[in-house]
Amino acid sequence: MRSIDDFTRPLEYLSPLDGYLGEITRAWAEREVMPLRRGFDEDWEDHETIEPAFKSLMGELGFQRFFFPEDMGGFGMGHSDYGGVGGFRVCEEISRADSAMGVAFAVMHWPLLMICKEPHVNRRLCAEFAPMFCQTEEPVFAANAMTEPQGGSDIENLDLLKGSTIQTTATLDGDQWVINGHKLWPTNSGGAAKLFGVVCTTKPGSSDPDDFAFIFCPADLPGVTQGKPYQKAGMAADKNSDIWFDNVRVPVWYRAHGPGLDFLYFKEMVSWGNVLSLAFASGAMLNIFELLKEFCEETTFRGKPLKENDDVAGVLADIARDIEITRIVGYQSARMLDRPDLYGDNWSDEIVAKCRAYKCFACDKAVEISGKALDIMGPRGSDRARDIEKHWRDLKIVQLWLGGKQLAQMEVARWFYECETL
Ligand SMILES: Cc1cc2nc3c(=O)[nH]c(=O)nc-3n(C[C@H](O)[C@H](O)[C@H](O)COP(=O)(O)OP(=O)(O)OC[C@H]3O[C@@H](n4cnc5c(N)ncnc54)[C@H](O)[C@@H]3O)c2cc1C
Repeated sequence: MRSIDDFTRPLEYLSPLDGYLGEITRAWAEREVMPLRRGFDEDWEDHETIEPAFKSLMGELGFQRFFFPEDMGGFGMGHSDYGGVGGFRVCEEISRADSAMGVAFAVMHWPLLMICKEPHVNRRLCAEFAPMFCQTEEPVFAANAMTEPQGGSDIENLDLLKGSTIQTTATLDGDQWVINGHKLWPTNSGGAAKLFGVVCTTKPGSSDPDDFAFIFCPADLPGVTQGKPYQKAGMAADKNSDIWFDNVRVPVWYRAHGPGLDFLYFKEMVSWGNVLSLAFASGAMLNIFELLKEFCEETTFRGKPLKENDDVAGVLADIARDIEITRIVGYQSARMLDRPDLYGDNWSDEIVAKCRAYKCFACDKAVEISGKALDIMGPRGSDRARDIEKHWRDLKIVQLWLGGKQLAQMEVARWFYECETL
């Protein structure tokens, strides 16, 4: 019987850990997420049913140790050349069950990329934060605090605006940074995160990359306040909220790398954010395939299973085509991150633009196929008991972050067509 595993992956460059990571994550998702996920929408604020699943994957199975060096208790993926495809597999499997859990899990690792990933490992900061993640069986979340009330896209429009619109300030006072500002939307805010990577400026209005600062800030410091989670259309397992930093003091060495380098390596975070968004889309699309296949085999029209009707089969073919292509593109882009020697640095404008292109393509296809699946299922597609409308709501949200479709289009056009002013 055909299954999701018949969609192609580039077998010649999967992580040596692929089978291990994939099987463990799939078993976890089928045991601890799929039977409960229908109730997650009601649990958006408290995470009473969501939290135990995070605990077993991140804490007990230890997946929150993914990037930390082995000698600090981590899995050492920060210096592996399979971190991208390995991470893609895990996020795809999680997102097959719940793409919001995929994003909450991935964003937990996102700021840590800055300090755990070769060739820019900051061992002092790794040693500072490794115990928090590696010496516990409780889930520990981190967040990338970037978006601000005046606009997230401008902050991410690094190539053109170079951080000049950032309003969260970091001021040096002796051997401490003093952080002031207001962030919106970070995944794992709303009370979940214990550690923030905060995008700041050391000189408001400056477009000098040296003034872009990425500073780590434990969530329990005096002056840090998190709001209540927003209630969204979907993605309840991902908490998003406001964070206020009011004269928050951290040691000077909590800045990830320093002038120029924070800016550079932050672009790598943008590349990874886009590629893992593809994994969220791909995983959810695989589950849509499974649910739709079952529906089209069980449901009959004019005495035949729905899938045996030519017009339905045509739409099903387009859906399978789009999943097949999205998945291949997803693994290819993850592999490109793993092999900068072949494709260029993760932070290069070329890789940032290409990763944005892939994410943009995948999200368009994901939104399109979830809509087509609902068209085929008719009103039954909107029935929560069938789980498919959840993906329809969630996938639209994947399309909206990282500056949304417009910023992706601008950066893609800017790189491929050598535009100067977009
Ligand atoms: C579920 C979820 C998770 C998120 N996770 C995080 C996170 O982990 N960390 C974080 O910091 N943020 C996060 N965000 C926020 C997200 O990245 C931003 O919402 C997004 O980047 C857009 O920023 P904005 O909301 O400020 O909109 P704006 O930047 O104000 O943009 C508004 C609209 O204008 C368009 N636009 C903006 N500039 C231009 C332009 N120059 N030309 C044409 N169109 C333009 C945008 O595409 C958008 O459609 C998350 C959001 C969601 C929904």
